[in-house]
Amino acid sequence: MAAVKILRDGAVAILEIDNPPVNASAQPVRQGLLDALVACENDPSVAAIVIAGAGRTFTAGGDITEFDHPPREPHLPDVLDRIEASTKPVVTAWHGTAFGGGCEIGVASHARVIAKEGVIALPEVKLGLIPGAGGTQRLPRLCGPIAALDIITTGRTVSAGEALRLGIVDGVADGDVRQAASDLARSLIGEAPRRTSDRAVAAPAPEAWEEAITRVKKAARGRAAPLAALRLVRAAIDLPFATGRAEERRTFLDLVASDESRALRYVFLAERAAGKLPELAGISAAPIGEVAVIGAGTMGSGIAVAFAEAGYRVTVFETSEVALTAGETRIASLHERSLKSGRLSADEAAAQAARLSYTVDLSSVSRADLVIEAVFEEMAVKKTLFEALAPHVKPAALLASNTSYLDIDIMAAMVSGPERFLGLHFFSPAHVMKLLEIVRGRLTSPATLATALAVARRLGKTAVIAGVCEGFIGNRILAKYRAQCEFMLEEGALPAEIDAALEAFGFAMGPFAVQDLAGLDISWARRKRLAATRNPADRDVPLADRLCEMGRFGQKSGRGWYLYDSGKRQADPEIEAMVRAHAATTGRAQRNFTAPDIQMRVLAAIVNEGAKILEEAIAARPSDIDVVLVNGYGFPRWRGGPMFHADRIGLSDIAALAQAAAERDGPAFALSPHLARLTETGSAFAALPSHPVQS
Ligand code: NAD
Repeated sequence: MAAVKILRDGAVAILEIDNPPVNASAQPVRQGLLDALVACENDPSVAAIVIAGAGRTFTAGGDITEFDHPPREPHLPDVLDRIEASTKPVVTAWHGTAFGGGCEIGVASHARVIAKEGVIALPEVKLGLIPGAGGTQRLPRLCGPIAALDIITTGRTVSAGEALRLGIVDGVADGDVRQAASDLARSLIGEAPRRTSDRAVAAPAPEAWEEAITRVKKAARGRAAPLAALRLVRAAIDLPFATGRAEERRTFLDLVASDESRALRYVFLAERAAGKLPELAGISAAPIGEVAVIGAGTMGSGIAVAFAEAGYRVTVFETSEVALTAGETRIASLHERSLKSGRLSADEAAAQAARLSYTVDLSSVSRADLVIEAVFEEMAVKKTLFEALAPHVKPAALLASNTSYLDIDIMAAMVSGPERFLGLHFFSPAHVMKLLEIVRGRLTSPATLATALAVARRLGKTAVIAGVCEGFIGNRILAKYRAQCEFMLEEGALPAEIDAALEAFGFAMGPFAVQDLAGLDISWARRKRLAATRNPADRDVPLADRLCEMGRFGQKSGRGWYLYDSGKRQADPEIEAMVRAHAATTGRAQRNFTAPDIQMRVLAAIVNEGAKILEEAIAARPSDIDVVLVNGYGFPRWRGGPMFHADRIGLSDIAALAQAAAERDGPAFALSPHLARLTETGSAFAALPSHPVQS
């Protein structure tokens, strides 16, 4: 089937892009557009041309798997130059999403109309790229360089209304956008073609331009693509179109081959692969309409909001009226914040509030198709809760725990029908964070998993399936690399040095600053819980316990690893002295850690534990671990995640550091046989096949 069809509306030819599922501007579409254009130019009965998309969207962008191969002709920039050069008027009809190449097709046309609900974007920067088909040169000619710079360097979506305001489109169609485009095209017959590249770029006011540059540089944090986009928009102001276009093409090809873009493309594909399990093919999800959330603390309130936002009816249960009111207030303040930030309109907030109900009556959960608990992190509390729930829940309702660490299988044993039990591990704040670990218990059925994945999709979450173990994928790895950070405190490093090194690596925040943010009491409680089962042969650093004993729980108490007296994080000389004094008592050799020393030691801890997680089938594939670390733990996306990064730099240094940790720090830090094998055979994580997650 042709990827571009020619339809007719009298003298107007409609070139319809038809490349399901999202009309990606892949080679057949480029060839199809070129052929159709030539056919229309040669057909005297065609006086004007409309480019439109079949199905629910104009085009969602390029086919990113093409970037890993040599570019195939015809190249989009050449096709778009042909479109622009057409002597017959060409009008684009945008509907749904017009992203990347889809946006550039419109921008290269002589005029554009967008459907009222349509959105456009140039999101290439999110893949470490820039628009490579004239977007950086033509968009500034339509909407001015400052707006273009913002759109290109953030990759954000632009609504129909904003596109009209900015002068990107000639009109917004209330009804049939194709008809509107066809009418516009007809009205342009006989006029000189309005070529975007012929327009001059309005020079920006120097001050506003300087401000825009500062904004871009700050947000870029050294990433290549936004800075390249900045250079190219400047070129659009200063240079003739053809020169700017050539510069854009060169830059695009350089970026496609860069490590940064490869890593970002890898994560993009890894996120899409994460929730897809071959063993679930053909298993359908059960319908979920009503959800009950048990416990309306930090997590429960965020989870309730996430579900209400996605259109579910939600019942929130708490143990007392006081706790319930506190939960309701917490949820209201989350809505309030979303309203203020513009994330939510007043109408949407009201609609969501109407979907939420609050109760202290446990029998109200009987309506729920899915029950999620987010009560205290204590097995006894969770077990009692599931026992109490048993007589009230529907026999087919899914039962889920949001536990961070605890054993899902022990909880599943408390309910009849343990095949419907699973972990749904949300991240804080649950209505914002995209990551969701779906924990598969020993008896969790494929149908339960399929339903959970469908729920995750509706919530807009990136779901990863994990098996049962202490901390699942993310928190299990976190525990290991945090331990290494604390070990380094005994060997001569200070918290601020470690945080700075990891932030320089690209982590959103250093681990000590994160602990202060999350509250040190959480891991304190966990350490106490695990104290009885701890192997004395494993190295243990008492510093965090000492901080808690001093009432230093982090930001919430004004002090933790750092001081927050003025609201700003500051190193605390008292803590530094305490760290030094403690280190001296350990008898361990003291050394100066360079930033790369710290970064490699942490990477080795992450990768070694990741390899064990793969060995034990807790994760289905290395890329799932990368998705978890990037989306839930601040690992730099542009490095592709720890397993991808390890493959890139080679496994031998990492294995050597993991071996050293094993000898120094005890059996919990043993070298993963999997990592050892891959290193010995010169293989890589990327070469491992995916396997079912088992518990
Ligand atoms: P929290 O202390 O803020 O909230 C717990 C809530 O549960 C309280 O409002 C309490 O009144 C309520 N509660 C206690 N027992 C109950 C019962 N039997 N029935 C109904 N409500 C009850 O705790 P949190 O931080 O929201 O954590 C909740 C769960 O989520 C824990 O299992 C935790 O490990 C997990 N979790 C926390 C985070 C985080 O960042 N805080 C992240 C992921 C998962």
